[in-house]
Amino acid sequence: MECIFCAIANKSLVSRIIYEDAFSVAFLDITPRSKGMCLVIPKKHIEDFNQDMEIAKECFETALIVEQKIMKALKPLTVFIALLPSQVPHAHIRVYPVYEKEIPLIENKPIQTNDAELDEIAKKLKSVNIEKPKKNLEEPKPKEEKKEIIVEKKEKEDTSWIKRYFEVA
Ligand SMILES: [Zn+2]
Repeated sequence: MECIFCAIANKSLVSRIIYEDAFSVAFLDITPRSKGMCLVIPKKHIEDFNQDMEIAKECFETALIVEQKIMKALKPLTVFIALLPSQVPHAHIRVYPVYEKEIPLIENKPIQTNDAELDEIAKKLKSVNIEKPKKNLEEPKPKEEKKEIIVEKKEKEDTSWIKRYFEVA
């Protein structure tokens, strides 16, 4: 049987995706523990984030974007971001909006919702446009030759100064 989160990532299973990039997908949980609860998954199938730190970083960054989207669109008191043991063997981050009436938030007790409400929340979250900062993939430019010569010359001067000092002493 295909992994359910891989199916969501490759879109063979329809979900309410609210953010997506080359490494990760964020979508609304259909059995949310609070209004607007989302899951962030890597596109690549890994069971645990420890297996790939680069993917872990990307997914955590996505979770922070989802947090900001939720704060802007749904205005909860706060947002919890959690890694919890799960039945699904595909690494995922849970992002829970927390509202006053939902404290304490109980992980094993889904709230009541319906397709229309989930569609509306997904639309709101998608409309908040937040992107990851562009990563600078260019190699740093080598120092100009002129500067390197100066550094070298200075080092020579320093050495001779130490030498002179010991000669006098
Ligand atoms: Zn998977």
